[in-house]
Amino acid sequence: MKLRLILGDQLSHNISSLSDVDTQNDIILMCEVRSEATYVKHHKKKIAFIFSAMRHFAAELAEQGLNLRYVRYDDPDNAGSLSGEVARAVGKHEIDEVIVTTPSEYRLSDDMSRWAQALNVHVSIRSDDRFLSSASDFAAWADGRKQLRMEFFYREMRRRYSILMDQDGPIGGQWNYDAENRKPPSNGLDVPTTYRAYPDAITQEVMDLVGTHFADHFGDLTPFHFAVTRDQAIVAFEEFIARRLKMFGDYQDAMIQGEPWMFHSHIGLYLNCGLLEPLECIQRAEAAYHNGTAPLNAVEGFIRQILGWREYVRGIYWLKMPDYKTVNFFDAQRSLPEFYWTADTQMNCMRQCITETKQNAYAHHIQRLMVLGNFALIAGLDPDEVNNWYMLVYADAYEWVELPNVTGMILFADGGLLGSKPYAASGAYINKMSNYCRSCKYKPTVKNGPTACPFNYLYWDFIARNEGKLRGNPRMGFVYKSLDRMSDEKRDAIQADTRRFFSAIETNEKV
Ligand SMILES: Cc1cc2nc3c(=O)[nH]c(=O)nc-3n(C[C@H](O)[C@H](O)[C@H](O)COP(=O)(O)OP(=O)(O)OC[C@H]3O[C@@H](n4cnc5c(N)ncnc54)[C@H](O)[C@@H]3O)c2cc1C
Ligand code: SF4
Repeated sequence: MKLRLILGDQLSHNISSLSDVDTQNDIILMCEVRSEATYVKHHKKKIAFIFSAMRHFAAELAEQGLNLRYVRYDDPDNAGSLSGEVARAVGKHEIDEVIVTTPSEYRLSDDMSRWAQALNVHVSIRSDDRFLSSASDFAAWADGRKQLRMEFFYREMRRRYSILMDQDGPIGGQWNYDAENRKPPSNGLDVPTTYRAYPDAITQEVMDLVGTHFADHFGDLTPFHFAVTRDQAIVAFEEFIARRLKMFGDYQDAMIQGEPWMFHSHIGLYLNCGLLEPLECIQRAEAAYHNGTAPLNAVEGFIRQILGWREYVRGIYWLKMPDYKTVNFFDAQRSLPEFYWTADTQMNCMRQCITETKQNAYAHHIQRLMVLGNFALIAGLDPDEVNNWYMLVYADAYEWVELPNVTGMILFADGGLLGSKPYAASGAYINKMSNYCRSCKYKPTVKNGPTACPFNYLYWDFIARNEGKLRGNPRMGFVYKSLDRMSDEKRDAIQADTRRFFSAIETNEKV
């Protein structure tokens, strides 16, 4: 008899661990375990989403006639860990083989490599073919290259999957339309609302469980409106194609107060747990371009995120783990300020992005990168603490995608492996790309003193503080030229403001 284990992010009917399932004899094991729900204290909405999606998926498998062994979180015999539950199932049934699709995270993969010996049973770990580039494909691509850059990987993926191609070249003559995707928000933009499902009895039961067992976790449990089945996730994605994709490109980087969802797709959580598959989303968006529903800059921009960035960060993760978890290029040591949990800060951009994160377990890419991440970078926050925060606050967070985005993209803690230069910016960028500054106590145009935007002096302090590590970066030359032109008085003022700001954080004064 075979035991087929399905993890919480493997909710795909065509997952490799089910490919040759024997409906009469095999047992499908799914379990809600404490170790997975609490290894970081995940947002309440994230736990509710995953448990509800798991229960719905299990019900679908049972309807197809498969033998389910589903262990609920509050089952009194729940062993509390995946290995414990596999051991319990192996002890109870006549299991001669455990079959599982390779887990997405290093931590679990490492754990699983010991199961065969520990359980004295044959364990088959199958590849996860939902991803479009395997770890070994990526390693082969990376091998021998002096520098890894997403853009070149992305072009190869476009060719390999024949996406937006015109014979050997890109449709439209350009591979990348990013330069057209940086419009600031304009007045009177009509932003459609996000998809809203109503919690059914299964979701309601899970929400009650989360309310009881995870009350001290970050985030608001209600209102809960995520899709929890593949059918719902398809509807959510189709709403994006019909209502938001055409504006996705233009306003990809824009932020508007009170508009957390903007023109993004909000499908990261569905892709990452398997309710949607990357290739189907890419091909659907490509079809929208061909049938005239959306322009090329929007469709190419959206496809680049999934075919390019998503696969690229996963490649980096498997190439560099486990060392990638401990890199700290700038030797950043500062603790995460309390306001990342409470949103209690006078910096309006931070307050808005943290509040929305708390409400929705979601923030869009530019909020994560250029507000929350930019602050973490220029304030020199400890990579472990920043990674912990990002891992637990977002419903789409899994280490394989969270870690490279935080360690590589926002903190430059890998010294430039993932990106060519740090995404550091002053208040001018946030003021250009959002309307947050209008409702802020600080002024983005003031550079020093108590009314100055903290991003302004922290930015220059970061540049000066890390001069030894960054001056040689060819993309930072113009920044250091500006620093060289700066008067001593100006430099002193930056240092004094920075010291005052950090000491206020350390003494829990509101900043
Ligand atoms: C600091 C930081 C942390 C992040 N943490 C996560 C995370 O834990 N999980 C996660 O899925 N994404 C993460 N991202 C990437 C990106 O911000 C989210 O995928 C995106 O905001 C999800 O919202 P969406 O579905 O509306 O995306 P859209 O903007 O509509 O993009 C479409 C899809 O493209 C993919 N994508 C876009 N950008 C990236 C990227 N940089 N890396 C990988 N995939 C990408 C996602 O699957 C996303 O759903 C992070 C980015 C940053 C800067
Ligand atoms: S002034 Fe500075 S702190 Fe305030 S919202 Fe603008 S960028 Fe953020």
